[in-house]
Amino acid sequence: MTVTDELVRNVVQEVLSHMRNGKAPTNGQSRAWGVFADVDSAVTAAAKAQREFEGRGLDERRKTVACIRKICLEQADTLGREELEETKIGRLVHKIEKLKVIADRIPGVEFLRTEAFSGENGITLTEYAPFGVIGIITPVTHSLPTLACNAINMLAAGNSLVCNPHPAGARIACKGVRLFNQAIHQAIGIDNLLTIIETPTLESAKAIFDHREVKMLCVTGGPAVGRAALRSPKRAIVAGPGNPPVVVDETADIDNAARCIVAGGAYDNNLLCIGEKEVFAVASIFDELMEAMTRHKAVRLDAKQIEALTKAAFVGGEKGKLVVNKDLIGQDAAVLADKAGVRVPADTELLFGETQESHPFVEEEQMMPFVPFVRCRDVDQAIALAKKYEHGFKHTAIIHSRNVDTITRMGREMDTSLFVQNGPSMASLGSGGEGYLSFSIATPTGEGVTTPLTFTRQRRTTTVGGMRVL
Ligand code: NAD
Repeated sequence: MTVTDELVRNVVQEVLSHMRNGKAPTNGQSRAWGVFADVDSAVTAAAKAQREFEGRGLDERRKTVACIRKICLEQADTLGREELEETKIGRLVHKIEKLKVIADRIPGVEFLRTEAFSGENGITLTEYAPFGVIGIITPVTHSLPTLACNAINMLAAGNSLVCNPHPAGARIACKGVRLFNQAIHQAIGIDNLLTIIETPTLESAKAIFDHREVKMLCVTGGPAVGRAALRSPKRAIVAGPGNPPVVVDETADIDNAARCIVAGGAYDNNLLCIGEKEVFAVASIFDELMEAMTRHKAVRLDAKQIEALTKAAFVGGEKGKLVVNKDLIGQDAAVLADKAGVRVPADTELLFGETQESHPFVEEEQMMPFVPFVRCRDVDQAIALAKKYEHGFKHTAIIHSRNVDTITRMGREMDTSLFVQNGPSMASLGSGGEGYLSFSIATPTGEGVTTPLTFTRQRRTTTVGGMRVL
């Protein structure tokens, strides 16, 4: 066995926690630290942990959440690298960044509040209480960041959770759960506030959906898992798919628009659900915009190259419909360029090119760093096409314009959960814009950017004829 720093740290933590509990280690058997083979054991352990946690008060919740933030910040380099090695999609720099931002941008206990009514008849308080055990499903695009973010929100609100991770990102998610539980156990003496299924399957997901001790669901992923959660009789928070369009009109700051489209569309190789997926630009500035893109490390493909890339990027699905080729999801721009038959500089951020609106790269959520640009006669057509290809997901839309009337009209038309003006998509989650972050944006169920309050029950307490001291 190789003795690593991590192994030593784990052994020391285990010995310390046993000393704290006054118990002897169990015959050298290592603890599961939240990682379980079956759903019933995972849920039972999470339910027991939650009952104890609920009685502990807000200070202990703060300490618990701080453990997760600290690990994400201090071990971001290692964990980010391991996530990339396992999932093989995205970019290392962004895998690391997505963990670091968890330290200060995900809302925690401070987000909980009490509302009060005070009058002649006394006083009434509305407070936000935990649900219990929450079942979560996480995507491969941000396996550990979604788990850590959901955990901070849910634990801050006094819940515990059981996770069915994406099978292709399960190893890093299990490692996160072990690290978080070890640190939380050391801090407050409770294990299993997070539990996870070591080898997740669709059956284990269903077993979580159906388990009577699971009081709420939060699923983050594409259309299939969203539909499955919406069919469940339990309250479900569904963070579903997107296909975010960008509109650029003739009043826009063209260079800023190009810079922002590259920043958002290239982030983690376009894996973000909020990331720029297709652009509708008005004809009068179209060529200028295409030119500006090339000043920001984006490489333009011609029609033949786009055709070659399209053949590699889409495969035949059910009923002859083209679907995205999973092998190219989250790959580097240079890999896509190779499929297009062109060599690009190694530091190329994004590929782009002109297509018709009916092109599969416009229609599908490609999740790879090629962004199609569609030439529109005017901004009315651009907004209409943006609405059409957002597919009613009500997820994210972006506009670059200095015309307040146009911006307002597009915001109304799109009716999306996130609407960004004159910035990259990430600005809507506090990166270059104001506000807080979540890796689960609840779209069809309407909660938007999730917070601790999303995972609470409202409880009201009323005092009649007293406690108003005015
Ligand atoms: P995916 O839909 O393939 O998988 C997501 C999760 O759902 C995985 O854990 C998977 O195992 C599980 N799953 C799939 N079908 C299921 C079913 N029928 N029953 C139960 N579980 C099921 O998605 P992905 O490739 O992992 O992630 C990318 C997708 O997620 C994109 O569509 C993206 O837009 C979306 N996403 C949305 C948000 C958001 O906040 N709205 C955030 C991240 C990703």
